[in-house]
Amino acid sequence: MPWTNYHGHCYYCDGKFAPEAYVEKAIELKMPAIGFSSHCPFEGGHAWNMAMEDLPKYLQEISALKEKYATDIEVYTGLEMDYIPEVIDDSMPHIKEANLDFIIGSMHYTGVFEDGRFCEIDGPHSKFVEGLKDIYQQDVEAMITHYFELMRAMVEQETTQILGHLDKVKIQAEQGILFSQFEDWYRVEVSRTLEKLKETNTILEVNTRGIYKKKTVDTYPSKWILQLAYELGVPIMLNADAHHPDELNAEFVPTAKMLKEIGFKELSVLKKGEWVALPFSSRGVEWG
Ligand SMILES: [Zn+2]
Ligand SMILES: [Zn+2]
Repeated sequence: MPWTNYHGHCYYCDGKFAPEAYVEKAIELKMPAIGFSSHCPFEGGHAWNMAMEDLPKYLQEISALKEKYATDIEVYTGLEMDYIPEVIDDSMPHIKEANLDFIIGSMHYTGVFEDGRFCEIDGPHSKFVEGLKDIYQQDVEAMITHYFELMRAMVEQETTQILGHLDKVKIQAEQGILFSQFEDWYRVEVSRTLEKLKETNTILEVNTRGIYKKKTVDTYPSKWILQLAYELGVPIMLNADAHHPDELNAEFVPTAKMLKEIGFKELSVLKKGEWVALPFSSRGVEWG
């Protein structure tokens, strides 16, 4: 049985290779579908966001790959979208005109510095600490509550079908010194966010990147969050957040086993242009 991956970064943002290298590797791995999700371009975006002038080339290059490999694999064009009120959201003209197959909404920024820089929660710990001090006056609960509030507003957007790496902010916890994902306020924010996913019929991404990059011991989100998502009936999908062709299905086997243990029976996939939920095992999805 095959795997699929719809969260991937190529050299248009911070990935390592041309899109074609990922498609070739996916065919070698017998994947029936692959999606690209470069970091969206926007005014003031950081170095790892795609440059605005590259967007047309990105769309064109993937569109050419769709045709070239049409008999071997389904290729999908997406973006990993940031959400910063009044700066970047999925209603921006360049995003709407891109005619994307899918959008993954992911939080990489929370809050804005006085000088207009956006505070990264996904970058070096020093940047997080700077934002915590300068924007949130050392109130870590306020900062992370804001992160989840923005996330809920993001998934309320009409075209954001997938929520990427829900709890990526946990990489900033410093082994629980700064905050813990088991504190009551944190759990409340997570629960509210899962309820929002259920209400908006948004797919929750299970992202393996933290494990194979050795930043975390488990997936984004953590197992306890996935258990809650299962109880609520939130649909899930499995993604590698690959920045290199060799990462396309990294850690999928143990993660699928963990998802089966929780009770999940289906993974959402984009197949023939439609989102469908397919049964899966630790060897892949029943693509049919
Ligand atoms: Zn991301
Ligand atoms: Zn990503």
